[in-house]
Amino acid sequence: MGKATGFIEYDRIQTPVRKPKERVRDWNEYSLPLPEKDLTIQAARCMDCGVPFCSIGMEIKNGVSGCPLHNLIPEWNDAVYRGEWKEALELLLKTNNFPEFTGRICPAPCEGSCTVAISEPAVGIKSIEKAIIDRGFAEGWIKPNPPKTRTGKKVAIIGSGPAGLACADQLNQAGHQVTVFEKSDRIGGLLMYGIPTMKLEKESVERRVELMRAEGIEFVTGMECGKDISADELKKTYDCLVLATGASKPREVSIPGREALGIHLAVPYLTQSIQDLLSGNAEQTLSAKGKNVLIIGGGDTGADCVATALRQGAESIVQLGRRGKPVSERAAGNPWPEYPLVFQMDYAHEEADAVYGHDPREYFVSPVEFLKDEANQLTGLKTIQVSRDESTGRYTEVPGTERIYRAEMVLIAAGFAGATDDIFTNFDVNQTDRHTIDAAKGFYRSSSERVFACGDARNGQSLVVTAIAEGRETAREVDFYLMGETFLP
Ligand SMILES: Cc1cc2nc3c(=O)[nH]c(=O)nc-3n(C[C@H](O)[C@H](O)[C@H](O)COP(=O)(O)OP(=O)(O)OC[C@H]3O[C@@H](n4cnc5c(N)ncnc54)[C@H](O)[C@@H]3O)c2cc1C
Ligand code: SF4
Repeated sequence: MGKATGFIEYDRIQTPVRKPKERVRDWNEYSLPLPEKDLTIQAARCMDCGVPFCSIGMEIKNGVSGCPLHNLIPEWNDAVYRGEWKEALELLLKTNNFPEFTGRICPAPCEGSCTVAISEPAVGIKSIEKAIIDRGFAEGWIKPNPPKTRTGKKVAIIGSGPAGLACADQLNQAGHQVTVFEKSDRIGGLLMYGIPTMKLEKESVERRVELMRAEGIEFVTGMECGKDISADELKKTYDCLVLATGASKPREVSIPGREALGIHLAVPYLTQSIQDLLSGNAEQTLSAKGKNVLIIGGGDTGADCVATALRQGAESIVQLGRRGKPVSERAAGNPWPEYPLVFQMDYAHEEADAVYGHDPREYFVSPVEFLKDEANQLTGLKTIQVSRDESTGRYTEVPGTERIYRAEMVLIAAGFAGATDDIFTNFDVNQTDRHTIDAAKGFYRSSSERVFACGDARNGQSLVVTAIAEGRETAREVDFYLMGETFLP
Protein backbone atom coordinates (compact mmCIF):
# COMPACT_ATOMS: atom_id res chain seq x y z
CA MET A 1 0.00 0.00 0.00
CA GLY A 2 1.48 3.31 -1.16
CA LYS A 3 0.44 5.73 1.60
CA ALA A 4 -1.40 4.56 4.70
CA THR A 5 -3.03 7.93 5.38
CA GLY A 6 -3.65 8.93 1.73
CA PHE A 7 -7.43 8.51 1.97
CA ILE A 8 -7.50 10.96 4.91
CA GLU A 9 -5.12 13.52 3.42
CA TYR A 10 -6.25 13.76 -0.18
CA ASP A 11 -9.53 14.47 -1.97
CA ARG A 12 -10.81 12.78 -5.10
CA ILE A 13 -9.80 14.57 -8.27
CA GLN A 14 -12.26 14.11 -11.12
CA THR A 15 -11.04 13.23 -14.60
CA PRO A 16 -10.77 16.63 -16.31
CA VAL A 17 -13.04 17.24 -19.29
CA ARG A 18 -13.04 19.83 -22.05
CA LYS A 19 -15.47 22.75 -21.63
CA PRO A 20 -18.93 21.68 -22.93
CA LYS A 21 -19.41 24.76 -25.16
CA GLU A 22 -16.03 24.15 -26.82
CA ARG A 23 -16.22 20.40 -27.26
CA VAL A 24 -19.64 20.46 -28.98
CA ARG A 25 -17.88 22.11 -31.94
CA ASP A 26 -15.98 18.91 -32.72
CA TRP A 27 -16.29 15.11 -32.50
CA ASN A 28 -13.16 14.43 -30.44
CA GLU A 29 -13.04 12.76 -27.02
CA TYR A 30 -14.39 14.98 -24.26
CA SER A 31 -12.18 13.68 -21.44
CA LEU A 32 -8.60 14.81 -20.79
CA PRO A 33 -5.71 13.04 -19.06
CA LEU A 34 -4.97 13.70 -15.38
CA PRO A 35 -1.47 15.09 -14.74
CA GLU A 36 0.96 12.57 -13.19
CA LYS A 37 1.08 14.35 -9.78
CA ASP A 38 -2.73 14.09 -9.49
CA LEU A 39 -2.65 10.42 -10.47
CA THR A 40 -0.13 9.72 -7.72
CA ILE A 41 -2.43 11.43 -5.22
CA GLN A 42 -5.43 9.42 -6.45
CA ALA A 43 -3.46 6.19 -6.18
CA ALA A 44 -2.41 7.16 -2.64
CA ARG A 45 -6.10 7.37 -1.63
CA CYS A 46 -6.46 3.60 -2.14
CA MET A 47 -6.66 1.89 1.28
CA ASP A 48 -5.60 -1.56 -0.01
CA CYS A 49 -8.53 -3.02 1.95
CA GLY A 50 -8.39 -6.58 3.23
CA VAL A 51 -11.31 -7.42 0.96
CA PRO A 52 -11.05 -5.17 -2.12
CA PHE A 53 -14.76 -4.71 -2.88
CA CYS A 54 -13.75 -2.64 -5.94
CA SER A 55 -12.82 -5.85 -7.76
CA ILE A 56 -15.48 -8.34 -6.61
CA GLY A 57 -17.49 -8.15 -9.87
CA MET A 58 -20.66 -9.67 -8.40
CA GLU A 59 -24.29 -9.31 -9.37
CA ILE A 60 -25.93 -7.96 -6.23
CA LYS A 61 -29.43 -6.45 -6.27
CA ASN A 62 -29.24 -3.50 -8.61
CA GLY A 63 -26.77 -4.91 -11.17
CA VAL A 64 -23.05 -5.57 -11.05
CA SER A 65 -20.97 -4.36 -8.10
CA GLY A 66 -17.21 -4.09 -8.39
CA CYS A 67 -15.13 -4.79 -11.48
CA PRO A 68 -16.43 -7.76 -13.55
CA LEU A 69 -12.85 -8.36 -14.75
CA HIS A 70 -11.60 -8.53 -11.15
CA ASN A 71 -8.92 -6.02 -12.08
CA LEU A 72 -6.07 -5.96 -9.56
CA ILE A 73 -6.94 -2.41 -8.55
CA PRO A 74 -5.14 -2.03 -5.17
CA GLU A 75 -2.03 -3.62 -6.70
CA TRP A 76 -1.82 -1.24 -9.65
CA ASN A 77 -2.74 1.75 -7.49
CA ASP A 78 0.25 0.90 -5.34
CA ALA A 79 2.54 0.59 -8.38
CA VAL A 80 1.36 3.98 -9.72
CA TYR A 81 1.96 5.60 -6.32
CA ARG A 82 5.53 4.25 -6.42
CA GLY A 83 6.00 5.54 -10.00
CA GLU A 84 6.36 1.96 -11.31
CA TRP A 85 4.21 2.43 -14.41
CA LYS A 86 5.48 -0.57 -16.33
CA GLU A 87 4.69 -2.82 -13.38
CA ALA A 88 1.22 -1.23 -13.17
CA LEU A 89 0.70 -1.99 -16.86
CA GLU A 90 1.71 -5.63 -16.45
CA LEU A 91 -0.75 -5.98 -13.54
CA LEU A 92 -3.54 -4.32 -15.53
CA LEU A 93 -3.05 -6.50 -18.60
CA LYS A 94 -3.24 -9.68 -16.51
CA THR A 95 -7.02 -9.25 -16.23
CA ASN A 96 -8.11 -6.75 -18.88
CA ASN A 97 -7.41 -7.22 -22.61
CA PHE A 98 -8.56 -3.71 -23.56
CA PRO A 99 -8.10 -1.12 -20.78
CA GLU A 100 -7.95 1.64 -23.40
CA PHE A 101 -11.71 1.04 -23.92
CA THR A 102 -12.82 0.50 -20.32
CA GLY A 103 -10.60 3.35 -19.05
CA ARG A 104 -12.69 5.64 -21.27
CA ILE A 105 -16.25 4.30 -21.35
CA CYS A 106 -16.77 1.99 -18.38
CA PRO A 107 -19.38 3.31 -15.92
CA ALA A 108 -16.90 2.12 -13.27
CA PRO A 109 -18.88 -0.17 -10.97
CA CYS A 110 -15.53 -0.52 -9.16
CA GLU A 111 -15.87 3.05 -7.86
CA GLY A 112 -19.40 2.42 -6.54
CA SER A 113 -17.99 -0.36 -4.32
CA CYS A 114 -14.70 1.33 -3.35
CA THR A 115 -14.45 1.24 0.47
CA VAL A 116 -13.45 4.93 0.59
CA ALA A 117 -16.85 5.64 -1.02
CA ILE A 118 -18.66 4.59 2.18
CA SER A 119 -17.93 8.05 3.56
CA GLU A 120 -15.99 10.01 0.90
CA PRO A 121 -15.92 10.21 -2.90
CA ALA A 122 -14.36 7.03 -4.34
CA VAL A 123 -10.76 6.64 -5.52
CA GLY A 124 -10.55 7.75 -9.19
CA ILE A 125 -9.93 4.18 -10.36
CA LYS A 126 -11.03 4.66 -13.95
CA SER A 127 -8.74 7.69 -14.52
CA ILE A 128 -5.81 5.67 -13.21
CA GLU A 129 -6.64 2.72 -15.48
CA LYS A 130 -6.78 5.01 -18.52
CA ALA A 131 -3.49 6.68 -17.58
CA ILE A 132 -1.69 3.32 -17.19
CA ILE A 133 -2.69 2.01 -20.62
CA ASP A 134 -2.23 5.36 -22.41
CA ARG A 135 1.26 5.53 -20.96
CA GLY A 136 1.92 1.95 -22.06
CA PHE A 137 1.14 2.88 -25.66
CA ALA A 138 2.95 6.24 -25.48
CA GLU A 139 6.15 4.62 -24.12
CA GLY A 140 6.05 1.87 -26.77
CA TRP A 141 5.76 -0.85 -24.11
CA ILE A 142 2.86 -2.51 -25.91
CA LYS A 143 4.16 -4.58 -28.79
CA PRO A 144 2.76 -7.56 -30.72
CA ASN A 145 3.32 -10.71 -28.69
CA PRO A 146 2.37 -13.74 -30.84
CA PRO A 147 2.18 -17.16 -29.16
CA LYS A 148 5.38 -19.25 -29.29
CA THR A 149 3.61 -22.43 -30.42
CA ARG A 150 0.41 -23.30 -32.27
CA THR A 151 -1.98 -26.11 -31.35
CA GLY A 152 -3.32 -26.81 -34.85
CA LYS A 153 -6.90 -26.14 -33.66
CA LYS A 154 -9.06 -23.58 -35.46
CA VAL A 155 -11.74 -21.38 -33.91
CA ALA A 156 -14.22 -19.07 -35.65
CA ILE A 157 -15.42 -16.08 -33.63
CA ILE A 158 -18.62 -14.60 -35.06
CA GLY A 159 -18.99 -10.93 -34.16
CA SER A 160 -16.16 -8.49 -33.45
CA GLY A 161 -17.46 -6.51 -30.46
CA PRO A 162 -15.59 -6.50 -27.13
CA ALA A 163 -16.78 -10.04 -26.28
CA GLY A 164 -15.60 -11.54 -29.59
CA LEU A 165 -12.31 -9.61 -29.52
CA ALA A 166 -11.49 -10.61 -25.94
CA CYS A 167 -12.30 -14.25 -26.69
CA ALA A 168 -10.15 -14.12 -29.85
CA ASP A 169 -7.24 -12.54 -27.99
CA GLN A 170 -7.25 -15.18 -25.26
CA LEU A 171 -7.63 -18.15 -27.65
CA ASN A 172 -4.85 -16.80 -29.87
CA GLN A 173 -2.57 -16.51 -26.83
CA ALA A 174 -3.39 -20.17 -26.07
CA GLY A 175 -2.02 -21.05 -29.53
CA HIS A 176 -5.23 -21.67 -31.49
CA GLN A 177 -5.67 -20.30 -35.01
CA VAL A 178 -8.45 -17.72 -34.65
CA THR A 179 -10.57 -16.07 -37.36
CA VAL A 180 -12.95 -13.25 -36.42
CA PHE A 181 -15.93 -12.79 -38.78
CA GLU A 182 -17.81 -9.48 -38.86
CA LYS A 183 -20.82 -8.61 -40.99
CA SER A 184 -20.13 -4.90 -40.89
CA ASP A 185 -17.35 -3.17 -42.90
CA ARG A 186 -15.22 -2.46 -39.81
CA ILE A 187 -14.13 -4.45 -36.76
CA GLY A 188 -15.22 -3.46 -33.24
CA GLY A 189 -18.98 -4.03 -32.83
CA LEU A 190 -20.55 -1.23 -30.80
CA LEU A 191 -17.06 0.05 -29.93
CA MET A 192 -16.80 1.06 -33.59
CA TYR A 193 -20.40 1.71 -34.65
CA GLY A 194 -22.66 2.80 -31.81
CA ILE A 195 -20.55 4.40 -29.09
CA PRO A 196 -19.86 7.95 -30.33
CA THR A 197 -16.35 9.23 -31.06
CA MET A 198 -16.71 11.78 -28.24
CA LYS A 199 -16.58 8.88 -25.78
CA LEU A 200 -14.17 6.66 -27.71
CA GLU A 201 -12.14 7.79 -30.70
CA LYS A 202 -12.01 5.07 -33.32
CA GLU A 203 -8.23 5.21 -33.73
CA SER A 204 -7.86 3.32 -30.46
CA VAL A 205 -10.14 0.52 -31.74
CA GLU A 206 -8.14 0.31 -34.99
CA ARG A 207 -4.82 0.34 -33.09
CA ARG A 208 -5.93 -2.66 -31.01
CA VAL A 209 -7.17 -4.56 -34.08
CA GLU A 210 -3.81 -3.99 -35.82
CA LEU A 211 -1.99 -5.31 -32.77
CA MET A 212 -4.14 -8.45 -32.71
CA ARG A 213 -3.63 -8.92 -36.47
CA ALA A 214 0.13 -8.71 -35.93
CA GLU A 215 -0.21 -11.43 -33.28
CA GLY A 216 -1.76 -13.80 -35.83
CA ILE A 217 -5.54 -13.30 -35.64
CA GLU A 218 -7.32 -13.20 -38.99
CA PHE A 219 -10.16 -10.68 -39.47
CA VAL A 220 -12.84 -11.06 -42.13
CA THR A 221 -15.25 -8.12 -42.59
CA GLY A 222 -18.41 -7.91 -44.69
CA MET A 223 -19.23 -11.56 -43.93
CA GLU A 224 -22.61 -12.28 -42.36
CA CYS A 225 -22.26 -15.74 -40.88
CA GLY A 226 -25.37 -17.87 -41.25
CA LYS A 227 -26.20 -16.05 -44.48
CA ASP A 228 -23.00 -15.49 -46.54
CA ILE A 229 -21.49 -18.65 -45.07
CA SER A 230 -23.60 -21.33 -43.38
CA ALA A 231 -23.11 -22.72 -39.89
CA ASP A 232 -22.45 -26.16 -41.44
CA GLU A 233 -19.67 -24.79 -43.67
CA LEU A 234 -18.10 -23.05 -40.69
CA LYS A 235 -18.30 -26.25 -38.63
CA LYS A 236 -16.49 -28.16 -41.40
CA THR A 237 -13.54 -25.73 -41.32
CA TYR A 238 -13.37 -24.84 -37.62
CA ASP A 239 -13.16 -26.99 -34.49
CA CYS A 240 -15.37 -24.59 -32.52
CA LEU A 241 -17.61 -21.59 -33.21
CA VAL A 242 -18.16 -18.74 -30.74
CA LEU A 243 -21.27 -16.60 -31.22
CA ALA A 244 -20.52 -13.06 -30.02
CA THR A 245 -23.12 -11.41 -32.19
CA GLY A 246 -24.51 -8.86 -29.71
CA ALA A 247 -28.10 -8.06 -28.71
CA SER A 248 -29.06 -5.52 -31.30
CA LYS A 249 -32.77 -6.30 -31.69
CA PRO A 250 -34.30 -2.88 -30.91
CA ARG A 251 -37.26 -2.41 -28.62
CA GLU A 252 -39.85 -0.66 -30.77
CA VAL A 253 -42.28 2.13 -29.93
CA SER A 254 -45.40 0.67 -31.51
CA ILE A 255 -47.88 3.52 -31.34
CA PRO A 256 -50.01 5.09 -34.10
CA GLY A 257 -48.06 7.12 -36.67
CA ARG A 258 -44.86 5.03 -36.41
CA GLU A 259 -44.61 5.01 -40.23
CA ALA A 260 -44.10 8.80 -40.38
CA LEU A 261 -40.90 9.99 -42.08
CA GLY A 262 -38.34 11.38 -39.62
CA ILE A 263 -38.43 8.59 -37.00
CA HIS A 264 -35.17 6.66 -36.62
CA LEU A 265 -33.83 3.91 -34.36
CA ALA A 266 -30.92 5.10 -32.20
CA VAL A 267 -28.15 2.66 -33.20
CA PRO A 268 -28.54 3.00 -37.00
CA TYR A 269 -28.65 6.80 -36.48
CA LEU A 270 -25.46 6.79 -34.35
CA THR A 271 -23.79 4.35 -36.77
CA GLN A 272 -24.54 6.56 -39.77
CA SER A 273 -23.03 9.55 -37.99
CA ILE A 274 -19.81 7.64 -37.23
CA GLN A 275 -19.64 6.24 -40.78
CA ASP A 276 -19.90 9.80 -42.17
CA LEU A 277 -17.09 10.97 -39.87
CA LEU A 278 -14.82 8.04 -40.73
CA SER A 279 -15.37 8.40 -44.46
CA GLY A 280 -14.73 12.15 -44.29
CA ASN A 281 -18.25 13.24 -45.33
CA ALA A 282 -18.41 16.93 -44.48
CA GLU A 283 -22.20 16.72 -44.09
CA GLN A 284 -23.92 14.23 -41.80
CA THR A 285 -26.27 12.08 -43.91
CA LEU A 286 -28.93 11.70 -41.23
CA SER A 287 -28.70 15.15 -39.70
CA ALA A 288 -30.62 16.86 -36.91
CA LYS A 289 -29.54 20.28 -38.21
CA GLY A 290 -32.21 22.93 -37.59
CA LYS A 291 -34.68 20.31 -36.29
CA ASN A 292 -36.59 19.96 -33.07
CA VAL A 293 -35.43 16.54 -31.87
CA LEU A 294 -37.20 14.22 -29.45
CA ILE A 295 -35.41 11.22 -28.03
CA ILE A 296 -37.58 8.44 -26.63
CA GLY A 297 -35.65 6.60 -23.93
CA GLY A 298 -33.99 8.00 -20.83
CA GLY A 299 -30.88 5.77 -20.83
CA ASP A 300 -27.27 6.02 -21.97
CA THR A 301 -28.02 5.32 -25.65
CA GLY A 302 -30.47 8.23 -25.54
CA ALA A 303 -27.73 10.39 -24.02
CA ASP A 304 -25.40 9.50 -26.91
CA CYS A 305 -28.18 10.61 -29.30
CA VAL A 306 -28.40 13.94 -27.41
CA ALA A 307 -24.65 14.55 -27.86
CA THR A 308 -24.75 13.58 -31.56
CA ALA A 309 -27.83 15.68 -32.42
CA LEU A 310 -26.25 18.63 -30.59
CA ARG A 311 -23.12 18.46 -32.73
CA GLN A 312 -25.25 18.22 -35.86
CA GLY A 313 -26.89 21.55 -34.92
CA ALA A 314 -30.35 20.56 -33.61
CA GLU A 315 -32.68 23.49 -32.92
CA SER A 316 -33.89 21.89 -29.68
CA ILE A 317 -33.53 18.51 -27.94
CA VAL A 318 -35.79 16.82 -25.40
CA GLN A 319 -35.04 13.36 -23.97
CA LEU A 320 -38.14 11.62 -22.69
CA GLY A 321 -37.96 8.85 -20.10
CA ARG A 322 -40.69 6.69 -18.57
CA ARG A 323 -38.92 6.41 -15.24
CA GLY A 324 -38.71 9.08 -12.56
CA LYS A 325 -35.74 11.32 -11.77
CA PRO A 326 -33.12 9.39 -9.79
CA VAL A 327 -32.48 10.44 -6.19
CA SER A 328 -29.46 12.65 -5.43
CA GLU A 329 -28.00 10.35 -2.76
CA ARG A 330 -28.09 6.57 -2.30
CA ALA A 331 -31.52 5.39 -1.14
CA ALA A 332 -31.76 3.09 1.89
CA GLY A 333 -32.57 0.18 -0.44
CA ASN A 334 -29.43 0.77 -2.50
CA PRO A 335 -26.59 0.56 0.05
CA TRP A 336 -22.83 0.31 -0.55
CA PRO A 337 -21.31 -1.78 -2.21
CA GLU A 338 -24.17 -1.87 -4.74
CA TYR A 339 -23.87 0.25 -7.86
CA PRO A 340 -25.20 3.67 -6.78
CA LEU A 341 -28.47 4.50 -8.57
CA VAL A 342 -28.20 8.27 -8.19
CA PHE A 343 -28.81 11.28 -10.42
CA GLN A 344 -25.89 12.06 -12.72
CA MET A 345 -25.22 14.66 -15.37
CA ASP A 346 -23.83 12.62 -18.25
CA TYR A 347 -21.44 14.33 -20.70
CA ALA A 348 -24.34 14.82 -23.13
CA HIS A 349 -26.58 16.44 -20.53
CA GLU A 350 -23.85 18.85 -19.47
CA GLU A 351 -23.44 19.82 -23.11
CA ALA A 352 -27.17 20.33 -23.70
CA ASP A 353 -27.35 22.37 -20.50
CA ALA A 354 -24.47 24.58 -21.69
CA VAL A 355 -25.94 25.11 -25.17
CA TYR A 356 -29.71 25.32 -24.51
CA GLY A 357 -29.60 26.44 -20.88
CA HIS A 358 -31.35 23.40 -19.39
CA ASP A 359 -31.06 19.65 -18.84
CA PRO A 360 -32.89 18.03 -21.79
CA ARG A 361 -34.39 15.18 -19.73
CA GLU A 362 -38.07 14.93 -18.85
CA TYR A 363 -39.34 12.16 -16.58
CA PHE A 364 -42.45 9.98 -16.22
CA VAL A 365 -43.43 10.58 -19.87
CA SER A 366 -44.94 7.93 -22.13
CA PRO A 367 -45.43 8.38 -25.91
CA VAL A 368 -49.02 8.08 -27.20
CA GLU A 369 -49.02 8.97 -30.91
CA PHE A 370 -46.65 10.27 -33.57
CA LEU A 371 -48.17 13.23 -35.42
CA LYS A 372 -47.60 13.80 -39.14
CA ASP A 373 -48.75 15.94 -42.06
CA GLU A 374 -50.38 14.91 -45.38
CA ALA A 375 -46.95 14.13 -46.85
CA ASN A 376 -46.39 11.59 -44.02
CA GLN A 377 -43.70 13.86 -42.56
CA LEU A 378 -43.35 13.79 -38.77
CA THR A 379 -44.59 16.98 -37.09
CA GLY A 380 -44.68 16.02 -33.44
CA LEU A 381 -45.44 13.56 -30.66
CA LYS A 382 -48.41 13.29 -28.31
CA THR A 383 -47.43 12.11 -24.82
CA ILE A 384 -49.01 11.45 -21.44
CA GLN A 385 -47.56 11.61 -17.92
CA VAL A 386 -47.33 8.32 -16.03
CA SER A 387 -46.94 7.51 -12.36
CA ARG A 388 -45.30 4.50 -10.76
CA ASP A 389 -46.81 2.26 -8.12
CA GLU A 390 -43.80 1.60 -5.87
CA SER A 391 -45.22 -1.69 -4.53
CA THR A 392 -45.81 -3.34 -7.94
CA GLY A 393 -43.39 -1.32 -10.12
CA ARG A 394 -46.26 -0.73 -12.60
CA TYR A 395 -46.75 2.52 -14.48
CA THR A 396 -50.21 4.00 -15.02
CA GLU A 397 -51.26 6.94 -17.16
CA VAL A 398 -52.36 10.10 -15.37
CA PRO A 399 -55.63 11.31 -16.97
CA GLY A 400 -55.65 14.84 -18.37
CA THR A 401 -51.84 15.12 -18.72
CA GLU A 402 -51.60 14.73 -22.50
CA ARG A 403 -49.10 17.04 -24.14
CA ILE A 404 -47.97 17.71 -27.70
CA TYR A 405 -44.29 18.19 -28.51
CA ARG A 406 -43.27 19.65 -31.84
CA ALA A 407 -40.65 17.50 -33.58
CA GLU A 408 -39.20 17.01 -37.04
CA MET A 409 -36.96 14.19 -35.85
CA VAL A 410 -37.57 11.41 -33.31
CA LEU A 411 -34.86 9.01 -32.20
CA ILE A 412 -36.00 5.78 -30.57
CA ALA A 413 -33.61 4.68 -27.81
CA ALA A 414 -36.07 2.50 -25.89
CA GLY A 415 -33.64 -0.34 -25.23
CA PHE A 416 -33.00 -3.76 -26.76
CA ALA A 417 -35.03 -6.94 -26.95
CA GLY A 418 -32.21 -9.48 -27.19
CA ALA A 419 -30.36 -11.11 -30.07
CA THR A 420 -31.61 -10.84 -33.65
CA ASP A 421 -33.99 -13.66 -34.73
CA ASP A 422 -31.70 -14.97 -37.52
CA ILE A 423 -29.04 -16.13 -35.03
CA PHE A 424 -31.33 -18.76 -33.46
CA THR A 425 -32.46 -20.24 -36.75
CA ASN A 426 -29.19 -19.99 -38.70
CA PHE A 427 -27.11 -21.58 -35.93
CA ASP A 428 -29.84 -23.87 -34.57
CA VAL A 429 -29.30 -22.69 -30.98
CA ASN A 430 -31.95 -22.54 -28.24
CA GLN A 431 -33.06 -19.21 -26.85
CA THR A 432 -33.95 -18.01 -23.36
CA ASP A 433 -37.19 -16.23 -22.47
CA ARG A 434 -35.16 -12.98 -22.74
CA HIS A 435 -34.53 -13.76 -26.42
CA THR A 436 -30.82 -14.37 -25.84
CA ILE A 437 -28.76 -17.47 -26.68
CA ASP A 438 -29.30 -20.17 -24.08
CA ALA A 439 -25.78 -20.96 -22.80
CA ALA A 440 -25.22 -21.13 -19.04
CA LYS A 441 -22.86 -18.59 -17.50
CA GLY A 442 -19.56 -20.21 -16.60
CA PHE A 443 -19.94 -22.85 -19.35
CA TYR A 444 -21.03 -20.78 -22.37
CA ARG A 445 -22.05 -23.87 -24.38
CA SER A 446 -25.12 -23.47 -26.57
CA SER A 447 -27.52 -26.31 -27.43
CA SER A 448 -25.61 -26.88 -30.69
CA GLU A 449 -22.52 -29.11 -30.62
CA ARG A 450 -19.19 -27.15 -30.75
CA VAL A 451 -21.01 -23.77 -30.64
CA PHE A 452 -20.34 -21.43 -27.69
CA ALA A 453 -21.90 -18.03 -26.97
CA CYS A 454 -20.85 -14.95 -25.01
CA GLY A 455 -21.37 -11.21 -24.54
CA ASP A 456 -24.66 -9.44 -25.13
CA ALA A 457 -25.86 -12.26 -27.41
CA ARG A 458 -25.95 -14.49 -24.30
CA ASN A 459 -26.33 -11.96 -21.53
CA GLY A 460 -28.56 -9.26 -23.11
CA GLN A 461 -27.47 -5.61 -23.51
CA SER A 462 -24.87 -4.96 -20.86
CA LEU A 463 -21.52 -3.20 -20.61
CA VAL A 464 -18.21 -3.34 -22.46
CA VAL A 465 -16.47 -4.58 -19.30
CA THR A 466 -19.00 -7.44 -18.92
CA ALA A 467 -18.57 -8.38 -22.58
CA ILE A 468 -14.77 -8.53 -22.18
CA ALA A 469 -15.16 -10.66 -19.04
CA GLU A 470 -17.53 -13.08 -20.84
CA GLY A 471 -15.18 -13.28 -23.85
CA ARG A 472 -12.28 -14.23 -21.57
CA GLU A 473 -14.29 -16.83 -19.64
CA THR A 474 -15.61 -18.36 -22.87
CA ALA A 475 -12.08 -18.64 -24.24
CA ARG A 476 -11.14 -20.71 -21.19
CA GLU A 477 -14.11 -23.05 -21.77
CA VAL A 478 -13.31 -23.41 -25.49
CA ASP A 479 -9.65 -24.10 -24.72
CA PHE A 480 -10.64 -26.76 -22.18
CA TYR A 481 -13.05 -28.33 -24.70
CA LEU A 482 -10.34 -28.45 -27.38
CA MET A 483 -7.36 -29.51 -25.26
CA GLY A 484 -8.83 -31.36 -22.25
CA GLU A 485 -7.04 -28.87 -19.98
CA THR A 486 -6.54 -25.11 -19.90
CA PHE A 487 -4.02 -22.66 -18.54
CA LEU A 488 -6.07 -19.61 -19.45
CA PRO A 489 -7.15 -17.46 -16.48
C1 LIG B 1 -25.24 3.46 -28.27
C2 LIG B 1 -24.61 2.60 -27.23
C3 LIG B 1 -23.68 3.15 -26.35
C4 LIG B 1 -23.09 2.34 -25.39
N1 LIG B 1 -22.19 2.92 -24.53
C5 LIG B 1 -21.59 2.15 -23.61
C6 LIG B 1 -20.64 2.73 -22.72
O1 LIG B 1 -20.37 3.93 -22.75
N2 LIG B 1 -20.02 1.91 -21.83
C7 LIG B 1 -20.28 0.57 -21.77
O2 LIG B 1 -19.66 -0.12 -20.95
N3 LIG B 1 -21.19 0.00 -22.58
C8 LIG B 1 -21.85 0.77 -23.51
N4 LIG B 1 -22.78 0.19 -24.34
C9 LIG B 1 -23.01 -1.27 -24.25
C10 LIG B 1 -21.86 -2.04 -24.93
O3 LIG B 1 -21.47 -1.38 -26.12
C11 LIG B 1 -22.24 -3.49 -25.24
O4 LIG B 1 -22.68 -4.09 -24.04
C12 LIG B 1 -21.05 -4.27 -25.80
O5 LIG B 1 -20.55 -3.67 -26.97
C13 LIG B 1 -21.46 -5.72 -26.11
O6 LIG B 1 -20.40 -6.38 -26.72
P1 LIG B 1 -20.61 -7.66 -27.65
O7 LIG B 1 -19.27 -8.00 -28.15
O8 LIG B 1 -21.37 -8.69 -26.93
O9 LIG B 1 -21.55 -7.19 -28.85
P2 LIG B 1 -21.47 -6.02 -29.90
O10 LIG B 1 -20.55 -4.93 -29.47
O11 LIG B 1 -22.89 -5.65 -30.19
O12 LIG B 1 -20.84 -6.70 -31.20
C14 LIG B 1 -21.52 -7.70 -31.93
C15 LIG B 1 -20.97 -7.73 -33.34
O13 LIG B 1 -21.43 -8.90 -34.01
C16 LIG B 1 -21.68 -8.59 -35.36
N5 LIG B 1 -22.58 -9.60 -35.90
C17 LIG B 1 -23.88 -9.84 -35.56
N6 LIG B 1 -24.37 -10.88 -36.27
C18 LIG B 1 -23.37 -11.31 -37.08
C19 LIG B 1 -23.27 -12.35 -38.06
N7 LIG B 1 -24.31 -13.15 -38.32
N8 LIG B 1 -22.09 -12.52 -38.72
C20 LIG B 1 -21.03 -11.70 -38.46
N9 LIG B 1 -21.08 -10.68 -37.55
C21 LIG B 1 -22.23 -10.50 -36.86
C22 LIG B 1 -22.30 -7.21 -35.28
O14 LIG B 1 -22.22 -6.53 -36.52
C23 LIG B 1 -21.42 -6.56 -34.21
O15 LIG B 1 -20.29 -5.94 -34.78
C24 LIG B 1 -23.42 0.97 -25.30
C25 LIG B 1 -24.36 0.41 -26.17
C26 LIG B 1 -24.96 1.21 -27.12
C27 LIG B 1 -25.99 0.61 -28.04
S1 SF4 C 1 -12.88 -2.05 -16.15
FE1 SF4 C 1 -14.49 -0.68 -15.31
S2 SF4 C 1 -15.07 -1.65 -13.36
FE2 SF4 C 1 -13.08 -2.55 -13.97
S3 SF4 C 1 -11.51 -1.24 -12.97
FE3 SF4 C 1 -11.85 -0.41 -15.03
S4 SF4 C 1 -13.37 1.22 -14.74
FE4 SF4 C 1 -13.45 -0.10 -12.92
